[in-house]
Amino acid sequence: MNKALVVIALGVVAFVGMAAFLSTRKQDNSNPTPTASSVASVAPVVREEQATTTPSAVPNTALAYPIGDFKNRITKKFFGTYVTPNNSPVQPEKFTGYHTGVDVEYTDIDTDVPVYAISDGTVLLARWASGYGGVIAIQHKINGQPVIAIYGHVNPEQLPKVGQKVVKGQKIGILGKGYSHETDGERKHLHFGLVKGVKFTLLGYVPNKSQLSAWIDPMTVF
Ligand SMILES: [Zn+2]
Repeated sequence: MNKALVVIALGVVAFVGMAAFLSTRKQDNSNPTPTASSVASVAPVVREEQATTTPSAVPNTALAYPIGDFKNRITKKFFGTYVTPNNSPVQPEKFTGYHTGVDVEYTDIDTDVPVYAISDGTVLLARWASGYGGVIAIQHKINGQPVIAIYGHVNPEQLPKVGQKVVKGQKIGILGKGYSHETDGERKHLHFGLVKGVKFTLLGYVPNKSQLSAWIDPMTVF
């Protein structure tokens, strides 16, 4: 065997040995104890896959925004934000729990801000309610599935009628005046929630994170 072949043979042996070592190390790490962060990282990956396999869903042209500049103005409370009177981004805060919708902020706008039906539907509820002031619940469908949209903190003097049919993009009301009876003392903003199914709830917060599964994150469907 000449010298060049010996060098090559030694190199191959070293390479195979290193590969075996790395593969052993990889196996050692292949079954780590599940952690909160590794579990949490699963959800966004699934959403990305859905977005690429159903491109028509992003943006969802079947839906209209419930209010102008919808996504840009969601700055304080997101879907699933956990608030208490001590940690809330909104002060003073009277609520505690996981936020079941998104808050769209309009404290900088003095003029009337219209609120729109996100799709065709039927008005299930339209009245003044504690914690909201004026609130509207409308039965819609998203991707063929029944969903009830909650439009909260609207002017209770300009509500649609219960049983009324609405169409996508139809103006259904205006935001209530901030820090007044119209919003039950809340700042000027739209609380927008999506409840799965046909049985509505007006809960704006739930005490356990697992209960959020009864709602849809609005940011995932527009
Ligand atoms: Zn809210």
